[in-house]
Amino acid sequence: MNEVIKTDVLIIGAGPVGLFAVFELGLLDVKAHLVDILGKVGGQCAELYPEKPIYDIPGLPVVTGQGLSDALMEQIHPFKPTFHLGEMVTTVEKIGDPLFRVKTDAGKTFEVKCVVIAAGGGSFQPKRPPIQGIEPYEDKSVFYAVRKMEDFRGKRLIVVGGGDSALDWTLNLQPLAKRLTLVHRRDEFRGAPDSVNKMRALVAAGEMDLKIGQVTRLEGSGGELAAAAVKTKDAVERVECDAMLPFFGLTMKLGPVADWGIKMEDELIPVDTATFETNIPGLFAIGDINTYAGKLKLILCGFHEAALMSQKAYHYVYPDKKLVFQYTTSSTSLQKKLGVA
Ligand SMILES: Cc1cc2nc3c(=O)[nH]c(=O)nc-3n(C[C@H](O)[C@H](O)[C@H](O)COP(=O)(O)OP(=O)(O)OC[C@H]3O[C@@H](n4cnc5c(N)ncnc54)[C@H](O)[C@@H]3O)c2cc1C
Repeated sequence: MNEVIKTDVLIIGAGPVGLFAVFELGLLDVKAHLVDILGKVGGQCAELYPEKPIYDIPGLPVVTGQGLSDALMEQIHPFKPTFHLGEMVTTVEKIGDPLFRVKTDAGKTFEVKCVVIAAGGGSFQPKRPPIQGIEPYEDKSVFYAVRKMEDFRGKRLIVVGGGDSALDWTLNLQPLAKRLTLVHRRDEFRGAPDSVNKMRALVAAGEMDLKIGQVTRLEGSGGELAAAAVKTKDAVERVECDAMLPFFGLTMKLGPVADWGIKMEDELIPVDTATFETNIPGLFAIGDINTYAGKLKLILCGFHEAALMSQKAYHYVYPDKKLVFQYTTSSTSLQKKLGVA
């Protein structure tokens, strides 16, 4: 059995609001681990609009989605948060007063005094390609994410899609695969031009195959793929394969949050606006996932919520200590924590 990870607070979601919560908690000496389904931090900012400019972050007249994520990572660096990326929190269970047991789909178990749900619009989930009968193959030989590249060594792979994920994984897996075929419905790619050029060079050198068409049928048994039918302009080709990796983008679904016994309203979590606590003491909800009178789904509102949540979380982590309000400009103790004094 895996060792139980014990810490003060577990933050579910490493979007901008989850990241800023690390800062506010850190100023109060509260340690945090973060879990996110995505393989990177930044939530919607990094996943949905990394290059778009944001104009309403206080004090930053303009910053891109990725730029904001990077700046938040720099700001929280002094507090050394631990990230568990590419993992989904599946269960949250209250086991004490307050003490929570939290589990992820990667088999990790946490025991924490407080849980902060900063899950935004819910979990990013891969879009399933329109191939009849794909379900029995999923997670056995059809994968929507690459957890360990080594799992694909020496295999015949089909990668499907024309965006950055499809191209990046084509380039990363091609050297390990026995043979890799990229399938895309048109001979135009949305991914970075440099990746497209590298992929085309591999095709020209005969080191991988590119098929312009669509996967229409899968062949195999017991969840193990043997081949896929690829419908091109002129024919249906049978491509033998051991695994298929479709990258059709992500959608946002509420996911497992709804099963944690928290009071919900229209797929959102109502909170007390003085503390951002849910109906369960010690369990907080901040950012896009919560609801209250006047709520605006803005990053700056999530930042405010993170600050107030931290004040209440402090009392659960240090029940016998008094919290003294301090400014970062004038408190040497806060400046020491930030490594600037
Ligand atoms: C195109 C676009 C433009 C926008 N422009 C602006 C703007 O100009 N200004 C502004 O203020 N806001 C803007 N927003 C809104 C802003 O992005 C959101 O308010 C903000 O991202 C919310 O942050 P969050 O941290 O609450 O959630 P998110 O950014 O949604 O992050 C939540 C994270 O939680 C993870 N997660 C969810 N469930 C689980 C689980 N069970 N286990 C593990 N991880 C989980 C998700 O993978 C995700 O990474 C824009 C949004 C979009 C889509």
